[in-house]
Amino acid sequence: MKKIGLLGGMSWESTIEYYRIINEEVRKRTNPQTSAKIILNSMNFKEIADLQHAGKWDELYDMMANAALELEEVGARAIFICTNSMHKSVPAIEAKVSIPVIHIADALVKQIKKDGFKKIGLLGTMYTMEHDFYKKRLEEKHGIEVIIPEKADRGVISEIIYKELCCGIFSEQSKAEYLRVIANLAKQGAQGVALACTEIPLLVKDGEAEVPLYETTYLHAMAAVDEALK
Ligand code: GLU
Repeated sequence: MKKIGLLGGMSWESTIEYYRIINEEVRKRTNPQTSAKIILNSMNFKEIADLQHAGKWDELYDMMANAALELEEVGARAIFICTNSMHKSVPAIEAKVSIPVIHIADALVKQIKKDGFKKIGLLGTMYTMEHDFYKKRLEEKHGIEVIIPEKADRGVISEIIYKELCCGIFSEQSKAEYLRVIANLAKQGAQGVALACTEIPLLVKDGEAEVPLYETTYLHAMAAVDEALK
């Protein structure tokens, strides 16, 4: 089995999910005693979030690339960044390490294509919804049409992620807000909605809205199992 490296802690609420889902799936695909070989490099989320909000992306790229290198140096054979937003640092990481970085958006697209969908809504932090690194990859690399919520709703979605979900707070009120925004995206023609923040599936799950919800945490964890058992 290949040893995989997780860059986690962003936030740890969702990193636990990666650990659990990966091990459950490895058990399912192999035998009940088998567990995944995982190395976790867990970041301090406050440091990350503060630098994001200050727009200090160069510092973040260095921090993420160095953390990825640490994983490679202790034997990881592939890297999984356990957050959508910090995939913005993929080019910096790829320049620093020689092992593959398995992109969360590619894992997402694999399922969207399997379902035969072409137009999806995107929910995540304001960086994931507004910056190019994620949307462009879906649109230009994979030919998926992406719709994002209107500005005010993007603010609501992103604020809930940073002030609640990444602090371990999950409320019915916030869940209702998410479902409202998802319904709006569906009304605009989204055939499904990507939960492109790894904590969102802790609040809203596939099956709870009128369109399919793509849980990036789960899909990325499945890609990790594929890689580990390849
Ligand atoms: N885990 C979240 C994501 O998937 C947000 C935390 C972050 O900003 O990295 O985007």
